[in-house]
Amino acid sequence: MPNSESFDRIAKRIEHFRDEMVDLQVRLTAIPAIAPGSGGEGEAKKAAFLMDYLKQNGFRDVTLIKAPDLDAPDGYRPNILAYYRGKSSARTIWVMTHMDIVPPGELSLWKGNPYKAWVEKGRIYGRGVEDNQQDLVASLFAVKAFAAEGLLPAFDIGVALVADEETGSAKGIGYVIENNDVFRKQDLIVVPDAGNEHGTMIEVAEKSILWLKFKTLGKQAHGSTPERGINSFKAASFLITSLNRLYDFFPEREKLFAPPLSTFEPTKKEANVPNINTIPGEDVFYMDCRILPKYKVADVEKRIKAIAADIEKKFRVKIEIGIEQKATAAPPTPAQAPVVKALRKGVKSVYHREARAMGIGGGTVAALFRRASFEAACWSKLDDTAHQPNEYCVIDNMVGDAKVFAHVFTQE
Ligand SMILES: [Zn+2]
Repeated sequence: MPNSESFDRIAKRIEHFRDEMVDLQVRLTAIPAIAPGSGGEGEAKKAAFLMDYLKQNGFRDVTLIKAPDLDAPDGYRPNILAYYRGKSSARTIWVMTHMDIVPPGELSLWKGNPYKAWVEKGRIYGRGVEDNQQDLVASLFAVKAFAAEGLLPAFDIGVALVADEETGSAKGIGYVIENNDVFRKQDLIVVPDAGNEHGTMIEVAEKSILWLKFKTLGKQAHGSTPERGINSFKAASFLITSLNRLYDFFPEREKLFAPPLSTFEPTKKEANVPNINTIPGEDVFYMDCRILPKYKVADVEKRIKAIAADIEKKFRVKIEIGIEQKATAAPPTPAQAPVVKALRKGVKSVYHREARAMGIGGGTVAALFRRASFEAACWSKLDDTAHQPNEYCVIDNMVGDAKVFAHVFTQE
């Protein structure tokens, strides 16, 4: 059977699954899977439910991988792998989603119970419905459609439902990659955990992240006698101005990224003295740097230290630089990688738009695959309400994304 004909059948079948997909969303939302580190019990209950669901819905070789976690009630964090076999096992087309959710936050900001999902004007509301259940459910129903139509995909399909995405992935996909060899270089790995409202962004690259704390130490004095002190706030202000030269030292642009350049921005500012008539002896501010992968983070750090040393000399202050976060960018997935091409075809067919490979300023969970030298792409069509009160999933996006996955599965 030609591709397009089987895809049309599958797309129609997915459309018929719409209510069932919403129903699964409601059932999953009722099982909160919050990391122990965020005050929850982990994903064990949600995983048990999903293991049963997978076994009853046509998946094979459903495997539970337990990542040890002494803080979780059962002593582990669950990661599930399951397959739907295709004509060839030469490669597996993976869709990886995460089971864990973030806490609902301030409950008074919610219009309803975050764990009792409700439907309103084509959207389903509840904690986790978009991040990441929208595409978890979509991936399962893309496969169910193949089973219902009795069709074989060209290659094996794999779904990975993982834990611990919201708190670093060490007990989630990080553990799975390190302790198993299920993923292969030739596999296509789709991670639908980032995207935009049109479904046109295929995230393939990221910038390195460097968050710094600058503590400037001077000498406190009365506001009327600055000569008796050393104004730490004034020195810090000159420091901030000097740090803007980082844009000149690291000026290169890369079209793949939005924005296309490295960014070096002062952000948080701690309060210094509470009153106006004191020369502050201590000043603290922070900086958020997003560095293109072509630059070494160490080179940026060196430059920052030199700038700070200059200010120390000029203003007779001491500047302590602390690292709040440092994450070196993973090697990018090529913009021409098979997984990118397959997604572009799927998006074109389902959403009638041209998607393109892009880099973003922050890390995604796909970086773990890329560091292990697997080509992974993040893609989803979403409104990006993740982590907000009244998080919602546009039901059309869930159904449409399922069709895009199915399209990728039907490609030879
Ligand atoms: Zn997520």
